Amino acid sequence: MVRQPTFQGRDSTETPSDGAGNGAPPTDAGGRFDPDDPRNDDELRPQKLDDVIGQRKVVDRLRILLDATRKREQQLDHILLDGPPGLGKTTLATVMPKELGVELQITSGPSLTAPKDLLPYLTNAGYRSVLFIDEIHRLPPAVEEFLYPAMEDFRIDITLGEGLNARTINMKLQPFTIIGATTRSGMLTAPLRDRFVNREHLDFYETDDLAILVERNARKLKTEITTEAASEIASRSRGTPRKANNLLRWTRDFATVHHKEGKITTRMADDALAMLEVDVLGLERQDRRYIETLITVFTGGPAGLKALAHTMDVPSDTLEDEVEPFLLRCGFIQRTPRGRMVTAQALRHLDMQLPGDGDKPGKLF
Ligand code: ADP
Repeated sequence: MVRQPTFQGRDSTETPSDGAGNGAPPTDAGGRFDPDDPRNDDELRPQKLDDVIGQRKVVDRLRILLDATRKREQQLDHILLDGPPGLGKTTLATVMPKELGVELQITSGPSLTAPKDLLPYLTNAGYRSVLFIDEIHRLPPAVEEFLYPAMEDFRIDITLGEGLNARTINMKLQPFTIIGATTRSGMLTAPLRDRFVNREHLDFYETDDLAILVERNARKLKTEITTEAASEIASRSRGTPRKANNLLRWTRDFATVHHKEGKITTRMADDALAMLEVDVLGLERQDRRYIETLITVFTGGPAGLKALAHTMDVPSDTLEDEVEPFLLRCGFIQRTPRGRMVTAQALRHLDMQLPGDGDKPGKLF
């Protein structure tokens, strides 16, 4: 297990980076550009709550919590953030301790395989500090149970020895805060979920908010962009800030190569995104493959997630976390008790028909 760096809130510019942060375009293992790549997140991550764009209601509620915590001079209550990847869970979790001027430690569910992995984080947690646990739904049950008394009573129970000689030692912890992030709140056990006093759901962003984000981050990347081009990139970012940032980087690189210098225009953005096969709604190759598989292999559905995943040779987690939320939001698929079904809207958008339907309307509708 690798412990992430601990860093001070207010004064530090350090972030939980594992990435290059060098402005290079994000690419996947095969060297292709990957709009979901989180490696460049830190360079553009807001450092203050005031810099966080959109999610107004969530931000307003967090501001109240922060103000109350400052006034009471106590630790922040535990907070659970849930929502699809790239919507700002890590951003909010890193901004809050900065606002309070307290320490932050960062870890994630999959890296905590046993209670002993969590122990150093808990014993190192200073008074009022924050421990951010990403992908908290992937904590093993033994680690989760170890966390309960730490969250509730700031206490841990350590068992020494075995069998008749076993003894349990209680150890007092400093009052601290856990901020948990999850893409799957439904997979959290009820006892863990209930221990989070505050729960916030992050939803996809409005295009107008993402356009502000693109313009602001273009300035940070020392790139000029027209307002229209920023809106174009925003409207194809699937309501997701990480995608908007990564599409901006790609467009900047495309413009540098093809146009040498000058402002990014809508035409340039259009050409750059066409080369990336991102369509007008922001659908990518993977989304189209999903819908096409549903239509051609499963005659429009219903199809089970696992069957779809096997057919596409993609992990079902990836489909559930990264592909389906946006397709559901677009109204392109339905999740029914019998499985996933394609909608008439998706057929129209992709200009496809269900197999054997010829000129007739889709059999599902
Ligand atoms: P998550 O943890 O939900 O996967 P992140 O917090 O890592 O998402 O966000 C990915 C990137 O998107 C961040 O680096 C940040 O630059 C940007 N971002 C996310 N939410 C916001 C926001 N509300 N305002 C500005 N930038 C944001």
